[in-house]
Amino acid sequence: MLKHKPPVELPEGYLDFFKAMESWQNEEVIKHRKVYTPAKHDLNQIIASSKKPLLGQVKPQIDGSILKDLYIRFLDFMLEQRPEIQEAIDKIKNQIEQMDFDEISASFIQLDMEYFEKLAVTMNVSYDLLFFTIDHAIRPLLRIYAEPYRQDLSSDLFYWEFPAICPVCGSKSHICRLNTGNGQRFMFCDRCFTEWPARYLYCVYCGNDQAKDIYYLNIENDDAYQLFLCNKCKGYLKTYDERSLGKPTDLFIANIETVYLDILAQEKGYTNHDED
Ligand SMILES: [Zn+2]
Ligand SMILES: [Zn+2]
Repeated sequence: MLKHKPPVELPEGYLDFFKAMESWQNEEVIKHRKVYTPAKHDLNQIIASSKKPLLGQVKPQIDGSILKDLYIRFLDFMLEQRPEIQEAIDKIKNQIEQMDFDEISASFIQLDMEYFEKLAVTMNVSYDLLFFTIDHAIRPLLRIYAEPYRQDLSSDLFYWEFPAICPVCGSKSHICRLNTGNGQRFMFCDRCFTEWPARYLYCVYCGNDQAKDIYYLNIENDDAYQLFLCNKCKGYLKTYDERSLGKPTDLFIANIETVYLDILAQEKGYTNHDED
């Protein structure tokens, strides 16, 4: 157990920004449910036979013009929230007509980072800002795409060999929750909001299930958040234990609020395997 390690202070306004962004995205989900209605497929059958996330195989039918409209409004949201980066946002806005949103959507779904690196160079804008804005503008659509699979993911038929990867959209997960009651572990995807069950005494990165190589660490006076550490692959996973406070929490915000746990784990030589 670690003693007297104060949580890291987040920069002022940082958390408020993410909360506002999540609200914006929630509103867009509600609006777009009417206009974006992707077909539902047999998730468990598809991922069991392909061993790949659903999104890469079953195209989400995202219309470029819907994404373009969302993207323009997301840039306006950014301008409102972060006026200090107006110049950078305007530079993107001025080039919107040259951006191909069908291509952007297809590249995002394949997580083809090279495409976005090249696009940033062509547009002469920061890659980080460009990718961040596209990533967050498309999320409401990904969340709608993922909605019909919640049942499949909690069914006995669900089987997935890569618990650190979202079976629906293919993003990496870095936070999970332990259910109230039975303590079942659910991984969480902050891109599409999918949750899927994963074994408890088990490393989601390397599959290690030797109790002697698995540790839990928490900050003093905080039993709700834990770090799950694996000594075999040096992986760490943030965990919210619902049993501690007796209620669920918003894992999207929790993931941001607990940056101090990432710093702590990384200082101790652990990785969330984000760069693998
Ligand atoms: Zn996902
Ligand atoms: Zn491991």
